[in-house]
Amino acid sequence: MRTLKRILVCILLLTAPAFHPNPADSDSRWGERIPGVVISFRPKGNEVALTFDVCGGPRGSRLDRKLVDALSRDRIAATFFATGRWIRSNPDDAALLASCPTFDIQNHGMNHRPASLTGRRAFGIAGTRNRTELLAEVRDAALLIRSLTGRNPRFYRSGTNFYEAAAVALLRENGVQAAGYSVLGDAGATWSARHVKAALLSARPGDIVILHANHPESGTAEGVIGALPEMIARGIRFTTLSDAIPSGRDASTRSVP
Ligand SMILES: [Zn+2]
Repeated sequence: MRTLKRILVCILLLTAPAFHPNPADSDSRWGERIPGVVISFRPKGNEVALTFDVCGGPRGSRLDRKLVDALSRDRIAATFFATGRWIRSNPDDAALLASCPTFDIQNHGMNHRPASLTGRRAFGIAGTRNRTELLAEVRDAALLIRSLTGRNPRFYRSGTNFYEAAAVALLRENGVQAAGYSVLGDAGATWSARHVKAALLSARPGDIVILHANHPESGTAEGVIGALPEMIARGIRFTTLSDAIPSGRDASTRSVP
């Protein structure tokens, strides 16, 4: 009888609905340096990855043509993190980026929202409020990028580059790699050309530099154009994130511990 009771309890336990609270949901760490966010890569030689955010919105919806033309002319490999809202408002500029063979277009979210599961704010911008909103923010921009380039973006940099740890884990479960940076290149397109150039010259192989391509009025283009010849003379080569970090090879990257 006791054995039968045990068997019944086992059956009940095995067939009961499974409620698996996601342990990551309770992980509320918040910021730019969150475990699982890739911030650099293991270089094969002397590669540096230049990344340019194209944020869109009322204060940043233009494309820095001087910067893009210089990168394109010199066949510099570069990764552009574009938002869905920017692609929608600037279809010709988006097509121009997609047409350059050395450019890689990755995901900066549909509406440039910080990656939160609880609506936290960064720099005054409200983050996504739950899992559904975060996944929609990523998916909607990914669909636009796919229709532009024919490829699914693998990397996602949230609006403001702020992440909640639980959000990074959720992204990973859904095959999306959160991408930060190791070198601050233009501080949100606020630095002078001189400052941008100095930041770029501080980059070492394996670094991911974060810059912006949506503020033609800033010092970014001049700083980048000023730094490139010196970087090339030092033996630096440029790479996209897609080339630097093969899919499924987490070991080749350095993320925040
Ligand atoms: Zn941005």
